[in-house]
Amino acid sequence: MTETVQVLSYKKLDGKVAIITGGASGIGEATARLFAQHGARAIVIADIQDALGQSVAESIGNEQCTYMHCDVADEGQVKGLIDSTVEAFGNLDIMFSNAGVGKTGDLRQSILDLDLEASDRLFAINTRGMAACVKHAARGMVEGSVKGGSIVCTGSLAASIGLEQFIDYVMCKHAVLGLVRCASKGLGEYGIRVNCVSPGGVATPLSCNEMNLSVEECEKFFEGIMGLKGFGATKTKDIANAVLFLASQDSQFITGHDLIVDGGTKLTL
Ligand code: NAD
Repeated sequence: MTETVQVLSYKKLDGKVAIITGGASGIGEATARLFAQHGARAIVIADIQDALGQSVAESIGNEQCTYMHCDVADEGQVKGLIDSTVEAFGNLDIMFSNAGVGKTGDLRQSILDLDLEASDRLFAINTRGMAACVKHAARGMVEGSVKGGSIVCTGSLAASIGLEQFIDYVMCKHAVLGLVRCASKGLGEYGIRVNCVSPGGVATPLSCNEMNLSVEECEKFFEGIMGLKGFGATKTKDIANAVLFLASQDSQFITGHDLIVDGGTKLTL
């Protein structure tokens, strides 16, 4: 039996409509730029850093990329983001739920002095906010005119390990993995795939601020704990490439998966 091999076009997202939360900076920004190169018809960057988000959208080109203020901790704003995107562009194909913060308190605390109020604030953005994005994006996709869709959440290597410190961050990212696994089960019947991309360590404002390091110091640290040598530190574009894979038809039969992009990191914190 001969099988037809489908030749995928270079532009992997030709004509697609995508939302990227946390798209004003770091991994989200790199992904917005890559999605644009791959022919996405409309990219909506959603963030709380309005000036930065506007300037990223303008530098990509406002005919392809727009900015919208959205605090993911506010479910009403998340619903508004999805509703207005579907209204403006007809449907939603891709949701990259990526917005997150590294700390809302002292990350170095142990379980013995864990600040639960700071943890609540972290969970409100990193976990509850992620759940709101998946919920409303899925509703938009189910009700939309185009069948199917791809939802990608940013997890973390921290979702798969235990650490003595960074406890609430580790906990909230474990919950993201649970969200992805559950949502992938519930949305399969609608042709919607839900996956996680889990960076090890990338020098971004979040990680540099979290560890109080410069970009150079942060890259050196992450490179030092990577098992894979000879290629330098992981960059935001390396994570964006993994997101592109999960967002595109290249991963058509992959759902409920956690794609760890960490260069074989051995975390010893
Ligand atoms: P970043 O700080 O460069 O980007 C995060 C973006 O999220 C920022 O633009 C910020 O304004 C936005 N944001 C924060 N709170 C928000 C809110 N309430 N509503 C909407 N937007 C909000 O950092 P990054 O490293 O690119 O982080 C992106 C994601 O990657 C996060 O979910 C983070 O947990 C995850 N991650 C990062 C690393 C790393 O080493 N950098 C490792 C693992 C996971």
